[in-house]
Amino acid sequence: MTAAFVNWSGSLSFTPAERSEPNDEDEVRRLVLRARETGTTVRPVGSGHSSSPLVRTDGVLLSLDRMSGVIGEDGDRATVWAGTKLAELGERLYDAGLAMENLGDVDYQSIAGATATGTHGTGLCFGNLSTQVAGVRLVTGTGETLNVSAEQNPELLPAARLSLGALGVVTQVTLDLHRRFQLHRRAWCAHVDWALDHLAELQHTNRNIDFYWYPRSDLAQIRTMNRTDEPPDERTWSPRRMAGSVPWAELREIQVGPTHRAIPQARDLRFEEIEYMLPSEAFAACFAEVRRRIKERHRRHAGWRVLVRSIAADDIWLSNAYGRPTTTIACLQNTTLPYEEYFQDMEAVFRQYGGRPHWGKKHWLTARDLRPLYPRWDDFRAVRRRLDPDGVFLTPDLARLLEEE
Ligand SMILES: Cc1cc2nc3c(=O)[nH]c(=O)nc-3n(C[C@H](O)[C@H](O)[C@H](O)COP(=O)(O)OP(=O)(O)OC[C@H]3O[C@@H](n4cnc5c(N)ncnc54)[C@H](O)[C@@H]3O)c2cc1C
Repeated sequence: MTAAFVNWSGSLSFTPAERSEPNDEDEVRRLVLRARETGTTVRPVGSGHSSSPLVRTDGVLLSLDRMSGVIGEDGDRATVWAGTKLAELGERLYDAGLAMENLGDVDYQSIAGATATGTHGTGLCFGNLSTQVAGVRLVTGTGETLNVSAEQNPELLPAARLSLGALGVVTQVTLDLHRRFQLHRRAWCAHVDWALDHLAELQHTNRNIDFYWYPRSDLAQIRTMNRTDEPPDERTWSPRRMAGSVPWAELREIQVGPTHRAIPQARDLRFEEIEYMLPSEAFAACFAEVRRRIKERHRRHAGWRVLVRSIAADDIWLSNAYGRPTTTIACLQNTTLPYEEYFQDMEAVFRQYGGRPHWGKKHWLTARDLRPLYPRWDDFRAVRRRLDPDGVFLTPDLARLLEEE
């Protein structure tokens, strides 16, 4: 019998009819063709870090763990196998003198899985990881192998850079990269009112900045990162310069390292998460409402912290930063505590302010709710139907998400 699949947080578990780990693209193609003939669904899976049911299937669960590593570099670009984990990718790129311009909070994900959901870090000038995708190679629902880039099938690129695994199995990803560089990571605590009052200034004077708000204490942990090859300048980050005196300010941590080691952190404690991407101009009002509701209704069972980050606007059709500078709010909850009621109440607030959910985290939206949020929704659907006419990748969960019928 096939082994059950359980995601990282443990809230998603199912037993597919078959689990497959192909060694090469030919095997992927044969698998897709067999599924098409037999009317089975196929879902590609990366590291299983998503907690929305994107990978759930009663058909074939396909992992590219065996298709990993750097295939080749060309200047500031590299093509990598889609199953490569971000941690491994960071090291291999570093060896080649290269680096991704930005990363998210952890590096356990596969490159295909992270970019399929628009995984993001923070920084006013940085798009999510999908914006670093210059091209992909994928096996479509008809078993065809397609290269998609600015040069080949360019009309498919805004759909293929972030595709939820709905267009096919991505086998290779080509990334736009930078020469490797070092970052200074700093973290300190202050009252959340200070963090909110200084957010715009912090965002404009630091390469990367986010903060965690702890509802029970009303403290914030502010984290900044700046390149160290710029002249070191304490004034770019020092809370003392900015506020004269910061209530409860306390320097927690300073760390220097290359991007792939300085940005991602180890996460041992398991949690559930809901994260919504808001138009930046709506952030202040939305956060105030989130704060009020957590204190009034959820103080006793909101076990953990709330994370605030920013993402630059992009032009990727299903990106939740499509067409607008974005500020994100994420509520985290220990996996040992109930999360539904708390998250659903937060979702109602996020939606009121025009938020779009993170594709890989908890949310309760379906195609009917999502379509009005994405101006190019119908274009993505047309590409999906063209590349997967028989719905090989369209499980009931994906159909609820992408198709209104
Ligand atoms: C501890 C933790 C920290 C996180 N930190 C962040 C963060 O800082 N920022 C952020 O934005 N998100 C974050 N996330 C969310 C996470 O980055 C996303 O859910 C991401 O998609 C997970 O990548 P994965 O490799 O585990 O993919 P999976 O969860 O396994 O799959 C995600 C999607 O990718 C598709 N996919 C996977 N491989 C392929 C392929 N070869 N071809 C086509 N489609 C494919 C799947 O079908 C699915 O739709 C975090 C999650 C956890 C658990």
